[in-house]
This record gives sequence, C-alpha cells and structure tokens, in this order.
Amino acid sequence: DCWPNRGQMDVQGLTVKYTEAGRAVLSDISFSVDGGQSIGLLGRTGSGKSTLLSALLRLASTDGEILIDGVSWSSVSLHTWRKAFGVVPQKVFILTGTFRMNLDPHGRYSDEELWRVAEEVGLKSVIEQFPDKLDFQLEDGGNVLSNGHKQLLCLARSILSKARILLLDEPSAYLDPITLQVLRKTLKHAFSGCTVILSEHRVEPLLECQSFLMIEGSSMKSYDSIQKL
Ligand code: ATP
Ligand code: MG
Repeated sequence: DCWPNRGQMDVQGLTVKYTEAGRAVLSDISFSVDGGQSIGLLGRTGSGKSTLLSALLRLASTDGEILIDGVSWSSVSLHTWRKAFGVVPQKVFILTGTFRMNLDPHGRYSDEELWRVAEEVGLKSVIEQFPDKLDFQLEDGGNVLSNGHKQLLCLARSILSKARILLLDEPSAYLDPITLQVLRKTLKHAFSGCTVILSEHRVEPLLECQSFLMIEGSSMKSYDSIQKL
C-alpha cells in the first residue's frame, strides 16, 4: 500500500487525442521526472499543457506508456492510479457538497485537522465567512467562491490526501501575489519530497523548479536549467 513511494514518473511514447479521428494534441512524447523533483511545464496557449496533465490522470484518450515508480498505468485500477495524484486544475469545478466533504471526501480527518490545513492554504477566513462554516453546502460548481479560492480548496484536499505527485495547472493566473507566496510556502512544507508538475505560461513562477518541459507543436523538449529555455 506504500505505492507510490518515490513519485518517479516515466512517460514513453505518449500520444493524446480528444477524439479517435481527431488530430493528436501531443504526439509521441517521452520524458522522465525524478521522484521529489519540481518540474516546470511551459508552452503557449493551446499547446497542450492541460491536455498533458489530463492524460497523466487517465482522463484523455491516449497511446503510450506511463509508469510511476516502475508501475504501469495499465496494471492498476483507475482509482488506485488517481489516488497517487493531487490536482489543482486551471478551471475548478467543485462537487456539490459541504466544505468538509470537498476537503475530505472520505471523512478521515477531524475538524481540527481540516481547520489546520485550511489555515495553511489561507482558506480559514474564507470558510469562516459562510454560515455553518465547514458544513456550508456548496452548489453549482462552487460558484460562491472565486476560481483562486477553488484552487486553494483543491490544494488543501491534496495536502489531506497525502498525494505523492501534485499537478498544478496555471495557479498564477488566478492567485494574487500574496496568495502565490502562500502557495510557494505550502509547496515547500506540505509537499517537500513530493513530485510536483507546475504548468505556467511564464518562466517567472517556475524559478524554484529543478527542470523544465516545454511543449511546442505537439512535441516536447526537456531542459535541466532555466538558462537553456
Ligand atoms: P492554456 O495555456 O490556454 O491553458 P494549454 O496549453 O493548457 O492552453 P490545452 O487546453 O491542453 O492547452 O489545449 C491543447 C489543444 O487541445 C488545443 O488545440 C485545444 O483546442 C484542444 N482541446 C483542449 N480540450 C479539448 C477538448 N475537450 N476537446 C477537444 N479539443 C480540446
Ligand atoms: Mg491549460
């Protein structure tokens, strides 16, 4: 039950399409990510950054092989595979249910723990504004929250689920500089030792990453230093 242990990812010959007959958004890409590394994922609007993150979660139609700590995605259940990941999507859709249920879908944590993590990501004062607090019912995709707050809710859920691999899709687009600072601190503390893939348009939010992937015209290049980009 300790898989994944290191969070090493190997992607081999990955091709991703949205429809059987459609064009390949990503074509025959291969790369590796060492366990515990932070990777910056770059590429222009529409290049396929979000598509790659969906493919890693087995949300898109794909050819090729993905291994996490040597375990192929074809050899474990979807549920087991996805449990390895924490995800902060670009556009968040919150499930209808309470804050509590969105933070802790399996009801594993005490209120004290939920509040501690909410405070860590800067959501405590937000949740406190709602009647019933943790028991406030979110509806219609959580539209009472800003997209940035929804992303923080996903971040909090990822901390609680003890995900080994964290996927972040353009957090800097919706978070103000102070909140980004909170995110940076959280990545250092709660996700130290975890594998992090951080997708961004600009290099600046990726300064703390150890290596970089750049999508260009359905293929992918790897860089081990920001100077080479
Ligand atoms: P951005 O920086 O704007 O977030 P991105 O790099 O994340 O862009 P994607 O959203 O992955 O880019 O889109 C890559 C390509 O896939 C685009 O050409 C887009 O039109 C196409 N695409 C994305 N989602 C779908 C979908 N659900 N169905 C069909 N095509 C899609
Ligand atoms: Mg995107």
